[in-house]
Amino acid sequence: MTVRTRFAPSPTGYMHIGGMRTALFNWLWARHNGGEFILRIDDTDQERNVEEALTPILHAFRWLGLDWDEGPEVGGPHAPYFQSKRGHLYRQAVETLLVSGKAYYDFDPPEVTQSDREAAEKEKRPFLNIRRSLDLSDTEREQFLAEGRPHVVRLLVNREAKVSIDDHIRGHVEWDCGLIADPVICRGDGSPLYNFATVVDDAQLEITHVIRAEEHLTNTAVQAMLFDALGHERPGFAHIPFVAAPGSKEKLSKRVKKLEKYRKSPQFKKLFDIADDVLPKIGLEPGESMNPVMVAYYEAVGFLPAGVLNGLSRLGWSFDDKTENMSLEFVTEHFTLGRVVKAPAGLDSDKLLAYQEHWMGELSTEEKVDGCLPYLVKAKYICDPIDAADVRFVSHLVEALGERLKLFSDILQYDEYFVSDADMTFDEKAFEKRLRKPEEAGPLLREFRQQLAAADSFDADALDVLLHQWVEAKGIKIGKVIHALRVATTGKPTGPGMFDCLALLGKDRCLARIDRAIELI
Ligand code: GLU
Repeated sequence: MTVRTRFAPSPTGYMHIGGMRTALFNWLWARHNGGEFILRIDDTDQERNVEEALTPILHAFRWLGLDWDEGPEVGGPHAPYFQSKRGHLYRQAVETLLVSGKAYYDFDPPEVTQSDREAAEKEKRPFLNIRRSLDLSDTEREQFLAEGRPHVVRLLVNREAKVSIDDHIRGHVEWDCGLIADPVICRGDGSPLYNFATVVDDAQLEITHVIRAEEHLTNTAVQAMLFDALGHERPGFAHIPFVAAPGSKEKLSKRVKKLEKYRKSPQFKKLFDIADDVLPKIGLEPGESMNPVMVAYYEAVGFLPAGVLNGLSRLGWSFDDKTENMSLEFVTEHFTLGRVVKAPAGLDSDKLLAYQEHWMGELSTEEKVDGCLPYLVKAKYICDPIDAADVRFVSHLVEALGERLKLFSDILQYDEYFVSDADMTFDEKAFEKRLRKPEEAGPLLREFRQQLAAADSFDADALDVLLHQWVEAKGIKIGKVIHALRVATTGKPTGPGMFDCLALLGKDRCLARIDRAIELI
């Protein structure tokens, strides 16, 4: 048996990080078993432009490197993969159920069904359909249909039965059908409801494992009955815990009100701060469609797919109780549904950033530079097309930054290397502390400036030797001058190694900046 899993998004115009995790687990299970992963688009209730609303979803898959064997753009033997184009399959299936008496036309007006429901509530008994329409003769039914009387099609639930599944994560789950109202499977206009369409599709697409969010567990009772009624073998089910909101057991939501709450949480604050800092610099608005609940955010602020995939894999799944950094290849090899936990899994910025740091550390300088350059262009720190000298400069900067570069967008924190000497701003506090307050700072800087001006070589090693020899000869501690030098040349109290900073800037720029600092002191 070939394992076939699917992810079935509605085209919403964005990819939720929780949905992405569900998709990833489906992908992993298919790949782990050498099976197939299918993308199906649940667009039956779609009012907006499907293609437009699907683009960010497909983009998120491509960015993360999760391919699909069948689905939009790639096609496949079970095409079409859009529910809106599969109407003939649903009509056929309804027909089968009606002919076999497993479904029925219900002509009760909605207000009658509603009052039946209220009566049941009043009497504190579960609501079950009265099934009045079952008493119609064939002729009456035909006549009602011919005159276009409003109706729905319902599954005729066997109230004597029980339905159960053995969920790969939840274990044995059983429902008493005597408590389940007859679900509507099709509206009067023939359009299918989710539970029905999904079963017809999962059967036709030969899905072997339905892996989805636990909120669908209650739907599974009806879906299992539908598989049985249609005479299809049921797939296996795995209901995975939802991705929880920071610090809570609630589902992570994209609602604006909730986002405001997440922003203040220790688990999410850093991610929101990154958005606030980085996005405006590259011409994007932090907000409803660009925040840590959306996959697009991670790409926008310069996470690596490997970092995000590592974080998503660990949401509710683990290899053992200690392994944290895992490649997609490693997770694919070891992924089993048995290790998925039942409890909601929470996204955590520290963990995500730690994965990111790990995978960033695996990149070559060249790869890091490739990731950083688009940020520098978007922020207009360098020009497009990028010339070779800029690439060389960024490459030196990236090397000097070493582990300080955790996200590609971190490069934007080093604006001092891209602004003119006159436009560089001094951090006020640092200027006060390192340049204005210590009386000797000005004179020492002035003196060391002469050394720099006379230096033949301006690479980091030579500058290191130069400063050390000079402080030794003067009999002063290096600390007396090095901090002043850093603030004078970069405007900031921290950054890459001091000698790298000086070498990056080069002699002329260092001297110009030192002169400005001395003047300001
Ligand atoms: N379109 C449904 C959803 O997004 C699919 C659910 C399922 O996987 O069955 O919730």
